[in-house]
Amino acid sequence: MSSRQTPETKTLIPLFDLARQHVPIAEELISAVARVAEAQNFVLGAGVAEFEAAAAQYIGVGHTVGVASGTDALYLALRLLGLQPGDEIITSPFTFFATAGAIENAGGRIVFADIDPRTFNLDPTAVAAAISSRTRAILPVHLFGQMAEMGPLLELAAQRGLWLIEDAAQSIGAKALVEGRWRSAGTLGTVGCFSFYPTKNLGGWGDGGLVSTDDPELAERLRRLRVHGEDYANARYVYGEVGTNSRLDAIQAAVLHVKLRHLPGWTETRRARAAGYDQRLGEIDAITTPTAEPDRFHVYSLYTIRAPRRDQLREHLGKRGIGTGVYYPLPLHLQPCFGHLGYRAGDLPEAERAAEEVLSLPLYPELTVEEQARVAAGIAEFYGA
Ligand SMILES: *Cc1c(COP(=O)(O)O)cnc(C)c1O
Repeated sequence: MSSRQTPETKTLIPLFDLARQHVPIAEELISAVARVAEAQNFVLGAGVAEFEAAAAQYIGVGHTVGVASGTDALYLALRLLGLQPGDEIITSPFTFFATAGAIENAGGRIVFADIDPRTFNLDPTAVAAAISSRTRAILPVHLFGQMAEMGPLLELAAQRGLWLIEDAAQSIGAKALVEGRWRSAGTLGTVGCFSFYPTKNLGGWGDGGLVSTDDPELAERLRRLRVHGEDYANARYVYGEVGTNSRLDAIQAAVLHVKLRHLPGWTETRRARAAGYDQRLGEIDAITTPTAEPDRFHVYSLYTIRAPRRDQLREHLGKRGIGTGVYYPLPLHLQPCFGHLGYRAGDLPEAERAAEEVLSLPLYPELTVEEQARVAAGIAEFYGA
């Protein structure tokens, strides 16, 4: 095939490059998937249980339940609350849509609280102000790979008798120092929710998700909810409550189990790449590099800067073959589908400002130091730094 690239066109630095991760572990993955093909046991089964046990150990939690997606992990976690009309769940307006969508699908009323501009995570003071007599749970999101400020949120939840549901979709392996102990994402709340969407830090060959909990009864109820609510252990085809079909596929579990062994190494390299960006970009006064709190172990699912004239910078980098992303361009309280909640522009100013300023740069373990230098040079050039 002839190349249409002109000689001066440089190699692309995409925002994500899953192929680079795949190549060195391809054989390992393909033989794991071949074993599933030989067994012809595609839904749940021993492979899923083995992956669940390995994930529980990695996360540091008593129980995990594999489900069909991160969205379903959130939805099923919220179903545990038995929400009644008017019951409120407090969450962040600056997150992927699924966080809020799951609340509405589970029958709850979404209450948005503004974010801390330094970390993009829920501001505990704003959460405290949003609590009402109808609040049932706080749903913090550990955004971009850094855990939310869990100490004050745990305190609020305990004081007010609320559940804490962690959206850890972007933060498997992240940690926070809480009450003098390092605690992992997904172990502090009543339940934690994870996603294995392909571009997440631990990504499958399709959709997948997981719920974590230390409560054996909640785990068992989640196992029933993912098979329509069937009392599968005692009475097949008897349903105590209405669940849904949300099982983790055996093929996904096989892929994820292989990749889980590589995750700690990938995480360390992500952190090293992020430190490299911090150093190179720290000299460019126009932009703000991500804040990594000293009491957090950040796993950098995304390396997100704040940049003036963000859209022009994005275009400038795009012309140089550098992929970037905007997570997220429209805060959730201003989404058309949530108009009935009554929020207006200006209500949550930090989330709105973040939506205008954020830009995520390529960051994956396989990104080379030279590529990082090119990204930094492209940004410096734009600001004339
Ligand atoms: C990816 C993501 C989800 C949803 O996970 P899916 O597996 O794509 O359904 C939920 N919340 C956050 C913060 C996410 O990043």
